[in-house]
Amino acid sequence: MANKKLDLVPLYEWGMFTEPRPSVVAGPCSAETEEQVMETAKGLKELGINVFRAGIWKPRTHPGSFEGIGAPALKWMQKAKKEYGLKIATEVASEKHVFECLKYGVDLVWLGARTTANPFLVQEIADALKDTDIPVLVKNPVNPDLDLWIGALERLNSAGIRKLGVIHRGFSTFDRIKYRNDPQWQVAIELRSRYPELPFFVDPSHMAGCKDYIREISQRSLDLGFEGLMIESHCNPSCALSDAKQQLTPPELSDLLYNQITVRDSDSDSKEWKENIDQLRAKIDIIDENILYALGSRMKISRQIGEYKKNNNIAILQTSRWDAVLAKVVEKGHEYGLPEHFVTDVFNAIHEASVEAQNEIISADRK
Ligand code: PEP
Ligand code: MN
Repeated sequence: MANKKLDLVPLYEWGMFTEPRPSVVAGPCSAETEEQVMETAKGLKELGINVFRAGIWKPRTHPGSFEGIGAPALKWMQKAKKEYGLKIATEVASEKHVFECLKYGVDLVWLGARTTANPFLVQEIADALKDTDIPVLVKNPVNPDLDLWIGALERLNSAGIRKLGVIHRGFSTFDRIKYRNDPQWQVAIELRSRYPELPFFVDPSHMAGCKDYIREISQRSLDLGFEGLMIESHCNPSCALSDAKQQLTPPELSDLLYNQITVRDSDSDSKEWKENIDQLRAKIDIIDENILYALGSRMKISRQIGEYKKNNNIAILQTSRWDAVLAKVVEKGHEYGLPEHFVTDVFNAIHEASVEAQNEIISADRK
C-alpha cells in the first residue's frame, strides 16, 4: 500500500530549533528531584541547549524499578522553563499524560518506542492532542517495523499534528551486539527516502546504552544528514535512578557537541557536494556491513546443511537445486535492475565458497 503524504511544518519553523545542525534535545533520562532537574537544566542552558528533556513517567522493563515521579515532577520542569528560558519536553504514553503536559506548559512531547508499537495508545494520544499546536516526536517502535512507525505518524498527522518528527533509537534484539539497541540504519534511511521532509532525530543514548558509543553514533547520524540528536544528560550520571550508564554530564555533552563531532557546513557549493558525497558513502558503508552480515549468516546455514548431509550420507552437490536457485536470483535481480552476468557471478562465488565449506565438513569426517 502506498504511504499517505504527510502534511508537515519544517523543523526550523517550530519555534525551538535553529540551524546549524544538529538540533539538540538534552536532559536526564528521568526527572528525579527538583535539585537534579534544576542543576542539570542550568548546566545545559549554559552550553547552549534550548530544549530540555526529562522522563516523568518511565516505561520500565521490570516492575519495582524507578517508574518516574509522575505529574509532580512537571512542576520542576516548569520551573526550569521559567528560570532558564528552556523549552521543556517529555514522553507521553497515554491521554492522561497528554492532559497533564498541557496543564504544565510542556512544549514538546515524544512517544516512546513501546508506545509507538501500540496503535491503540497512539490513537488515544493523537485524539488527546487534537487542536493543540504542540510538536510531537515519534520514536521508532521497539521492533524494526517501518509500517508501524509510519502508521503512528499517519495517526498523529490525521489528528492535525503538523509539527511532527521522528527519533531513531534502534531496535531490540536477542542477539548480543555492542550496542543496547540495534541501529539497523537501513530502516532509518528507508524512512528518510520515503519522507525527505520529515524532521529526523537520532537518540544515541538509548541506541548505545553506554556512553562510550555516543560519539560514533552521533557522528554517523550527522553523516547521514539527520537534523537532530536527543541525548541523555544528568548532573551526576552515576547516581541516576534510570539509565545511569548512558548519560553524559553537561560538560561531557559540551565536549561531544563542540569538539568531538564534525558537522559539515552546507554553505558553499563545493561543501554541499562534499556533504552529499559523504552521506552517500555513509549509506554505502552501512549497506556493505549488511551484505557482510547476510553473507556470514548464509555461510552458517550452509555449514549446518553440510553437517546434515554428512549425517545422512548425502553428496554435497545437487546441481538441480543450484540451477533452480540461480534462475530464481537472476529473475529477482532483474526486478532490482541488476544485470544477469553480475548476479550470476556473485552467486556462483557464494556457491563456490559454500561448497568448499561443506567439503571441509565432509572430509573432516574421513580423517
Ligand atoms: C527515553 O527516552 O527515556 C526512553 C524511555 O526511550 P525509549 O522509548 O527509546 O526506550
Ligand atoms: Mn532513558
